[in-house]
Amino acid sequence: MPGRGEQNVSVSQKAYEILEKAKKKGETLSDVIVRLSETKIAGLQRRGEKEIMTSDGKRLVVRIDQDKCAGAESCVSTAPEVFALDPKELGGFRRGAQPLGMREVGEETVDGDTIVLAAKSCPYRAIYVKDVATGEELAGYP
Ligand code: SF4
Repeated sequence: MPGRGEQNVSVSQKAYEILEKAKKKGETLSDVIVRLSETKIAGLQRRGEKEIMTSDGKRLVVRIDQDKCAGAESCVSTAPEVFALDPKELGGFRRGAQPLGMREVGEETVDGDTIVLAAKSCPYRAIYVKDVATGEELAGYP
């Protein structure tokens, strides 16, 4: 039973895991909400290029060259948490394939190697990945 002024809320397993992780870092629920909403806004504003904080502590810049992407989908099968063919999000069809988009990726939910592997799996080198801290270009062309 919740105490005075307290309420029980139901959250998904994924949301629960994010909150547990945040609690261990000393973040409050408000901190988490602000951080996640800022991430979402930044992601929407920067369509086509994103900075992703990986679960192994890297900050990667990921960018898709839509002109090179032909919808082969190996990136989507390697890292479905990050990449998706989504005609609604990005609009339009090209050469019979749906253009590629990047999902809203929760902080520290995907490891860097998976993202780099997905980018390297692209036969058209349409995905560029750079390590922000070292400046190392890990996949694709700038
Ligand atoms: S980026 Fe490359 S692997 Fe991904 S869908 Fe486009 S062509 Fe396929």
